[in-house]
Amino acid sequence: MFHRPSRRTSGNHTGSRYVLESRTLTLINIERALRLRIGEFVAVMTDIQRISSPADVDAFVVYATTYPHLAVRVKELIVNLDQPFSLHAFRHCLSLTPSITDLYLHISTDVPADVLGGIDFKDLEFLKTNLPHQYLLPFLAIHVGPVELSLGPCGRAMEESCPLRLLDTRSYASIECPSECLLGVTHSSLVRLALQESHPGQSYAPPAFRSLPTPLLSLSCLTLDFLPDDYDILENVVRIAPRIQKLKLLEKPRVQRRQTQLRRVWIDGTAWARTLARLSSLEDFALKTAGPIGSSVASEKTILTSWVTSMSRTTRSANAAYQHPTLISLRVWYRCWDAHHEILTLWSRAIGTWRNIYRLVDPPTAALF
Ligand SMILES: [Zn+2]
Repeated sequence: MFHRPSRRTSGNHTGSRYVLESRTLTLINIERALRLRIGEFVAVMTDIQRISSPADVDAFVVYATTYPHLAVRVKELIVNLDQPFSLHAFRHCLSLTPSITDLYLHISTDVPADVLGGIDFKDLEFLKTNLPHQYLLPFLAIHVGPVELSLGPCGRAMEESCPLRLLDTRSYASIECPSECLLGVTHSSLVRLALQESHPGQSYAPPAFRSLPTPLLSLSCLTLDFLPDDYDILENVVRIAPRIQKLKLLEKPRVQRRQTQLRRVWIDGTAWARTLARLSSLEDFALKTAGPIGSSVASEKTILTSWVTSMSRTTRSANAAYQHPTLISLRVWYRCWDAHHEILTLWSRAIGTWRNIYRLVDPPTAALF
């Protein structure tokens, strides 16, 4: 999945510190506190704001209406509201931050479909939200600039098509979405795509990806869920996204099968290497699997280097080794043969020859991959 590190300078989001006190104060007290302690509030105000409760919404509205010249500086708004909240206050809150470029919106979906209707962020560059796609239509219809989208579940009935099909999505160069919505959002100019399994055990990403009628020749970065017995997964990447530079394949469990005993496609290292070689712009390849790769650093190196260095048909006669022309980074998260441990390993050819950069045993599940 796409990880978008904050472009703001403050990593700890202290800009929302003002709301902590506010939970025990009435709005009048908040206003009084703001007036009395303006110096302190100004000091903690940054261009990142986090809202995590209805009280935060109210406090921010008071703050932003009192000091609009500071509210207008907010560039990144992070909203996490699982509790019921005032729709009027919420929309007022959004209207007070017209300059935001990055909007993280995770709210209860028990809201009217036009919850974002009329909200206009002229500088918006990134939207990540869990809202059903139907709810996003009026908002996206007026945000046609170069916006990166990271979308949650579609929310439609299975027999319906994704409502995003009604939009012209060509200005969205970067899209993360459920696989069932791919046909609704994809276009020939897409640069980055992350496709998630929609309903575990029911809807899988590879069939949706495979069904694309034409190659995505502009695509340079692809993240794709797959199943352990999707033996043509790499072949389909070659066909649909032949010019990618970064590829991440994330294996998902197939229901009611023992994952570690399944035969993976890369067990034929030579065929796997030849398919990888057809991705002639690929620089960074990452793979997460519940299958085993190697039992030691040495065996791991033997297997992984066979993926990127092999005998090609044309060079075999000259007894020369073939090496992938562009690949310089190989990152793999796999399960040990004993199935009790997991390994996260990174191999790099950045300084000439392939060498291990790090190898973690049982990496924390929260580790970014
Ligand atoms: Zn959808």
